[in-house]
Amino acid sequence: MPANIANQVFLAILPWILLVGLVSILITVFRIFFLPRLKGRLGEASINFRTQRLLDQTVYHLIPNVMLTTPDGTTQIDHVIVSMYGIFVIETKTYKGWIYGDEREAKWTQAIYHRKEQFQNPLRQNKAPVAANAGTPVCPRCGEVMVLRTRRKDGSQFWGCSAYPKCKGIKQVA
Ligand SMILES: [Zn+2]
Repeated sequence: MPANIANQVFLAILPWILLVGLVSILITVFRIFFLPRLKGRLGEASINFRTQRLLDQTVYHLIPNVMLTTPDGTTQIDHVIVSMYGIFVIETKTYKGWIYGDEREAKWTQAIYHRKEQFQNPLRQNKAPVAANAGTPVCPRCGEVMVLRTRRKDGSQFWGCSAYPKCKGIKQVA
């Protein structure tokens, strides 16, 4: 009976159909939840490896994976390099394609295969904790970090927006 044979064939391949289904679900879960994190970790490890190999270790000191306490919780910085030339804060991103962004924009854009994706400006991602830790206020007008300035007429100090003259936000020194 053809119907019976069809039934038997179906029952024979059913475990394989289920297996293929299960494997594709596992692959999807891996791609969505674990692959981005894995890529991030590999990117960070690559930067750690390269900075230690390419930079003079007597001049540049790498501090990887820095955790900072901020007013609204904690934040993580991928790499901090301390040197006599300054303190460099590096945020690692493993993105392909074209990256468009300006230091003042809240979002940057990745363009790849005619697709556009937006992500948080990495400069902003690392800015807040530094300001909070140094006791530096942020501008009440635009949210930029403020800098301590001195009035020419009486020598008194005040916080001025670092985006001056574009933004004229000021704050009293407490
Ligand atoms: Zn401002």
